[in-house]
Amino acid sequence: MSEEKSLNFIEEIIEADLATGHYGAIHTRFPPEPNGYLHIGHAKSICLNFGLAIKYSGKINLRFDDTNPAKEETEYVDSIKEDVAWLGFNWTNELYASDYFDQIYEFAVTLINKGLAYVDDSTPDEIAALKGSPTEPGKNSPFRNRTIDENLTLFTAMKAGAYQDGEKVLRAKIDMAANNMHMRDPIIYRIKHAHHHRTGDKWCIYPMYDFAHGQSDSIEQITHSICTLEFIPHRELYEWLINQLEIFPSKQYEFARLNMTYTVMSKRKLLQLVTEGYVQSWDDPRMPTISGMRRRGFTAESIRNFCERIGIAKRENLIDVSLLEFCVREDLNRIAPRVMAVIDPVKLIITNYPEGQSEELISENGPDETYGSRSVPFSRELWIEREDFMEEPAKKWFRLAPGALVRLKSAYIIQCNSFEKDTEGNITAIQASYIPESKSGADTSEIKVKGTIHWVSVAHALEAEIRLYDRLFKVENPSQEEGDFKEYINPDSLQIIQQAYVEPSLLTAKIGNHYQFIRKGYFCLDKETSSEKLVFNRTVSLKDAWAKEVKK
Ligand code: ATP
Ligand code: MG
Repeated sequence: MSEEKSLNFIEEIIEADLATGHYGAIHTRFPPEPNGYLHIGHAKSICLNFGLAIKYSGKINLRFDDTNPAKEETEYVDSIKEDVAWLGFNWTNELYASDYFDQIYEFAVTLINKGLAYVDDSTPDEIAALKGSPTEPGKNSPFRNRTIDENLTLFTAMKAGAYQDGEKVLRAKIDMAANNMHMRDPIIYRIKHAHHHRTGDKWCIYPMYDFAHGQSDSIEQITHSICTLEFIPHRELYEWLINQLEIFPSKQYEFARLNMTYTVMSKRKLLQLVTEGYVQSWDDPRMPTISGMRRRGFTAESIRNFCERIGIAKRENLIDVSLLEFCVREDLNRIAPRVMAVIDPVKLIITNYPEGQSEELISENGPDETYGSRSVPFSRELWIEREDFMEEPAKKWFRLAPGALVRLKSAYIIQCNSFEKDTEGNITAIQASYIPESKSGADTSEIKVKGTIHWVSVAHALEAEIRLYDRLFKVENPSQEEGDFKEYINPDSLQIIQQAYVEPSLLTAKIGNHYQFIRKGYFCLDKETSSEKLVFNRTVSLKDAWAKEVKK
């Protein structure tokens, strides 16, 4: 977090609050519902909430908002903890809204005792019919005037399991004519006979979001409860409940959620992609999930930088995914060692290099000495990229062509003498001779060449599978298109290269290690790699192939 930057609007609020001495210290929370894996949108909220706690020496809770029993699973809890920690953040407390069920139940009893809540037997349709519309007031439910005692008896029976799902609800008694529809006697408890991942079968009534979130904030003495813009209409109810219950005055603030081009960012949609087989798993490298991005080769640093760059706004917008790609390129350029890999191989034979001979050449791992160097074996037969040879070279072609001279990276200058083709016209082999005095680092040849190409020695190469990813969707904003968002999936989002070759130093690569395959992009070793075959993911190409201006 750079100090010179101007404050965002939440920092301004916090600094004003701290200046008045209203709060001794700030306390934020990140409250995921454990019903899916975290995505890049969550990363924005994580960076904001944890960032504020760090910047203002406050506290931050990781709170699982697990009040909805049917959709939540422990697998998700574990993945969320792993992802937040991987992003580089430590939480003060790990907490669960479900731990407050007893307390929240007591809050409901308090409201009933104050004459501020009632049990309603109406069906969902009947409740909706009396709700009114934004321009028309609602009407009171026939059950609204139940006595406090009757409400206490019925609510106790609801808890004891006397009723079926949906038979009754508990509603706050506020104002059926309120301008804000959320204030028209909102439902605060419902009956749901479902097993909960932590409380088991203890409860058959569960608090609604609006009667769990703010109450959990209060119980934890959260000072600044930051959520996304769609909760603005809930703020009035958030404050009403806290005021009526006379509990810790947590305050809600809203910022614009992150939307990004060529992807979707709702757990419900991401879950569909997984369960319907459009992607392999939640951590498929094409997914905008933190785990998918990590597997693809994004670094935590690059994601944090991205979140810092996009900043915090009060209005929704759509962020260009190429900004995220820019951030990862910038980080990988700094940290990824350079190695040689040939993705679309064609054989090059150095006819004047003795058969059976090989030598170790020194190649730099990066743009300067701090990266160190490694040795790379060179021999008579090499793999080079098919696209580095042109039978009839175009103008300004500085790579290989009949008669042309080119430097082999960290090795020698060669001159192409001949080539072979199959019946379909595909190049099958290229012959060249090398110039022994032109060895990199000890070049006395005085020959100047304009092009340098990479290569891998055939005898020493390791076979690798390379997975190239493209955008998961064909359109910028699939959620806003007509029809089902899945109609806009890019059918070519994954290209698998079965037989690429990489230099032997990659034998020691570990899962998740980042590399720059020179001239080809940034890659990382995938978890599906095996002793038979290395598997690499392309994180991002070296340059933005979509050629869009990146706004810094
Ligand atoms: P989804 O719509 O993907 O299911 P959610 O809001 O239901 O998301 P939660 O688990 O409730 O997911 O989110 C935890 C926190 O992350 C909330 O405070 C929420 O506001 C925030 N958050 C979720 N999505 C985004 C996003 N796209 N940008 C910024 N913050 C987000
Ligand atoms: Mg939510």
